[in-house]
Amino acid sequence: STGEEITLDQAAYSLHRASDNREDRKLVFDTFWGAWKGYETSIGQTLDTQVKAHVFQAKVRKYDSALDAALSGPNIPTAVYHTLVDAAHRHLPSLHRYFRIRQRMLGLTDLHYYDIYPPLVASDRTFDIDESKALTLASAAPLGPHYLDLLGEGFAGNWMHVYPRPGKAPGAYMYGSVYDVHPFLLLNHNGQFNDVSTFTHEWGHAIHTMLSTEHNPYETSSYATFTAEIASTTNEVLLQEYMLGQEISDDERLFYLGTALEAARGTFFRQVMFAEFELKIHEMVEAGEALSGQKMSEVYEGLLRQYHGADQDVLTIDPAYAVEWSFIPHFYRNFYVFQYATSIAGGTMFAERFLKGDQQARDDYLAVLSAGGSRHAYELLQEYGIDLATDAPTPESPAESSHDCCTCPAASTATAIGARCLCRCRRFIGCLGC
Ligand SMILES: [Zn+2]
Repeated sequence: STGEEITLDQAAYSLHRASDNREDRKLVFDTFWGAWKGYETSIGQTLDTQVKAHVFQAKVRKYDSALDAALSGPNIPTAVYHTLVDAAHRHLPSLHRYFRIRQRMLGLTDLHYYDIYPPLVASDRTFDIDESKALTLASAAPLGPHYLDLLGEGFAGNWMHVYPRPGKAPGAYMYGSVYDVHPFLLLNHNGQFNDVSTFTHEWGHAIHTMLSTEHNPYETSSYATFTAEIASTTNEVLLQEYMLGQEISDDERLFYLGTALEAARGTFFRQVMFAEFELKIHEMVEAGEALSGQKMSEVYEGLLRQYHGADQDVLTIDPAYAVEWSFIPHFYRNFYVFQYATSIAGGTMFAERFLKGDQQARDDYLAVLSAGGSRHAYELLQEYGIDLATDAPTPESPAESSHDCCTCPAASTATAIGARCLCRCRRFIGCLGC
């Protein structure tokens, strides 16, 4: 809408799909997915070959299915995968409610797939790297003094490359594979809240590595993806809750709440949708059906419609965007994406236990991180109270509904992190008295 010309590569797509101008967002979607559509057949063939290879290998090795074969290495029961998909389906009404709120807040008469990315409420608050450190330390306080000491040690060392530079790898990651040396972190800090969230996320990985190294010989020090992202998402949830516990304006509060809702959509529902797509295309090949790019787009469109409530008039799915599957590189990693969703589920469960003042939660959490790769991840979590193959992974805490805010068990946590009472009782969202 400004007359500015852009080259719509992946980075530009991520940036401009969040444009405030609806016509611009639509143009970005039409152009970007129009280009991918041109490769639908070839990418379909590439992915089909991959799926066929998985199915063949599972068959010759006498696994029940490609899913069974893929999960056998890390020893994760296939029930975890199916339970995850079922749970996501059951909670789709919550996602649809979020979409309706989004439509109302953006002031739109209907909602399309290209309306998902603009932020609900903008925030111009920026955070420098010292603030990111301070917020990470403050929000991670429920994890205990040893965790904070390790963070302090890491911050004092020269372990991070913080700012973007020409030619530098994008995104952020933690490299912890050199057993005798400390972790290294690569960030591209731009001062947004999202960068603080990434900061605490990556440090979650770093402290996981440090705890694992501290308690394990080299052979069992590297840990599974299934637990790795729990160590990072827990910190993100703690940061979110910490920010919401501060004296901030309503707009800033809405910004954090919007960020949290987007995280639930992007890290949970969207990843489960990907996982379901991956499962479906494998099952089709297992049933002897032929796959093609066009067929994959049909399957994907069906899932887009279901997850986004197209039949309930929540969001309109334009078939032209159903080629989105072709742009997801993780489908070549053999049943990988579901772990993002199980991690955010596990991380959120731990964070909720901390915030409710569950004294055992910290010990359980640190024990999981310290166990590193000494046990299979699914069994390890089960041992410490989280069974991701069941519908009710953790028992409901008795504290949930039976206390007054000011005597709530979370009060000590609140004092410790210098915030308002963070207790989750239904009557008060946060009380000023504690
Ligand atoms: Zn991560």
